[in-house]
Amino acid sequence: MVKRAASRTTSTAADAATMAKVPRKIKNEIHDEIHDEFSSSSLSNGNIINPTESSNVGKIVKKVKKEMVAIETMKVEKGESEEVKVVVKTEIESTAVEETDDDCEKKVAKKIVRKTATKVKVEKPAWSESLKAEYESIGKSVLTSVGESQKYLGAHVSASGGVENAVYNAMAIGCRSFALFLKNQRRWDSKPIEEASIQSWNTAIKETGFDLKMIVPHGSYLLNAGSPNAELREKTKASIIDEIRRCEKLGIGLYNFHPGSSCGKCTMEESIEYIAEIINEVIEETNDVILLVETMCGQGNTVGGKFEELKSIIDHVKEPNRHRVGVCLDTCHIFAAGYDIRTAETYEKTMKEFENVIGLENLKAVHVNDCKSVLGSHLDRHENIGKGNLKTCWKFFMDDSRFDNIPLILETPEGLYPTEMIKLYGMDKKNKEAVV
Ligand SMILES: [Zn+2]
Ligand SMILES: [Zn+2]
Repeated sequence: MVKRAASRTTSTAADAATMAKVPRKIKNEIHDEIHDEFSSSSLSNGNIINPTESSNVGKIVKKVKKEMVAIETMKVEKGESEEVKVVVKTEIESTAVEETDDDCEKKVAKKIVRKTATKVKVEKPAWSESLKAEYESIGKSVLTSVGESQKYLGAHVSASGGVENAVYNAMAIGCRSFALFLKNQRRWDSKPIEEASIQSWNTAIKETGFDLKMIVPHGSYLLNAGSPNAELREKTKASIIDEIRRCEKLGIGLYNFHPGSSCGKCTMEESIEYIAEIINEVIEETNDVILLVETMCGQGNTVGGKFEELKSIIDHVKEPNRHRVGVCLDTCHIFAAGYDIRTAETYEKTMKEFENVIGLENLKAVHVNDCKSVLGSHLDRHENIGKGNLKTCWKFFMDDSRFDNIPLILETPEGLYPTEMIKLYGMDKKNKEAVV
């Protein structure tokens, strides 16, 4: 007695039509054979079962069609999130043609089963039911709170399981902008982005209507364009080019990275020149993505703790390339670097300084983080909005039109993004006026 594999799944409609023409008993035999084989075989392509003989078949079948095809599917989990479907195609050619009344015992039906197994990547459901439900309950309430605000708040979201998931994850919590990693941020090598992934991304963008201009991928943590080590700079350049090409494939126009560090082995000025050199080379080898250098907290030998350093990087970029470089301001980083923004006066003084030194035309995105560490500590400690030392700055920030219509991305400790966004939109004077 052959046992059926428990994991059998249904055939497609076309296959069902083919199978309907096959007598039930043979159908069962085929099923059993397939599933029996499944449990023992290694699922290698082109696996052929030896021709089998069965005297039973001849009694039942008058004429068996020559090329019957049965397709069975089985789902196999592979790796962390990649789902693979194994399609098994079974062709049966039969020589059991005639049944004779007088001597049917002598007529032996010969059944040849040829089985091929191919692995096909399963198309993942686009906008999953659970994320859709989250959007209905959470995302929508965040988006309702936007009101009259011109601020495009969002968060750094996960792209685990495919870049398209970042779009759905962002929508689910009501983001109007978002950041993501385009590959493992702690590894140099990464497999190329697949065509299927690009298609899924395009579907996600279309389905959610997300504005591509509000997406700012974050560069790998391993990059150091300011290193005096030529080998590390080469690796950094190759990695940035790879990430920029991914952006191009996905239709993303902004890319943000930490400028780098001299590691104490060269001067700050030399490090800045290295960074600008890499930016120039990357720009010349890619099409149109804008590279954003981030304001840093000036820890150790890190470049970017002072507005002047970022301006100097931009100035070192060749004039024809300069329209492709900009700055991402991180509120936590500038505070830790020593720029106070806690009172109306200090806030205005710092933002004016940014305007005068770097220039508003270079401000392309913001990392919206409260800060756990103190002013000028040079310690990078992100905190949830309203819980850190910057709690008094948010009303100035939300009322500051310099930050209108650009991506404003939360990188705060995870889990509170929707509440933080609602809280911030509530501080926008445009909304307060609308209520009054
Ligand atoms: Zn940041
Ligand atoms: Zn940081």
